[in-house]
Amino acid sequence: MNFKDYIRVIPDFPQPGIRFKDITTLINNGEVYRAAIEAISREVADKKIDLIAGPEARGFIIGAPLAVTLGVGFVPIRKSGKLPGEVVEASYALEYGKDKLAVHKDAIKPGQRILIADDLLATGGTIATTIDLIRQLGGEVVGSAFLIELGYLDGRSKLEGIDIFSLITY
Ligand code: AMP
Repeated sequence: MNFKDYIRVIPDFPQPGIRFKDITTLINNGEVYRAAIEAISREVADKKIDLIAGPEARGFIIGAPLAVTLGVGFVPIRKSGKLPGEVVEASYALEYGKDKLAVHKDAIKPGQRILIADDLLATGGTIATTIDLIRQLGGEVVGSAFLIELGYLDGRSKLEGIDIFSLITY
């Protein structure tokens, strides 16, 4: 299956110069959505994962079905101020904009093996911050998985030592 055919590229969104990779056209098709999750799942199945962590909001679209497929729990990484319990927080920069991410303190126990899942690896800022949060809680990041990687932004350089799998590359 050529997953790239199902991604819609929208120029100049949300600001001039950004070529936005719209995944809604892929997840709108149940067969393709499932095939994409299963392809990622096969790739990470041997990693002895305890939990999947996914950043708000599109990380949930990939991470939650991946967790269900693998039979492990899901840890939502959320924007600051959204989680009701005690949290740890860290700041991050986007290809556009800036924000702060948070995770529940009791969501990850020291030594647990965590796979990070997101829709898209751009500059790697979001994932670097997610790694920071997981490590603050003593979790071990055993890899990261993406639907899309924007190779030209070199997010990989921010994730040194972390295994990266992406289904589609631009
Ligand atoms: P980054 O922290 O730069 O790796 O980007 C993090 C998030 O921003 C990704 O997970 C996407 O949800 C979103 N994003 C950044 N650039 C794009 C793009 N060109 N098209 C679609 N989403 C993007």
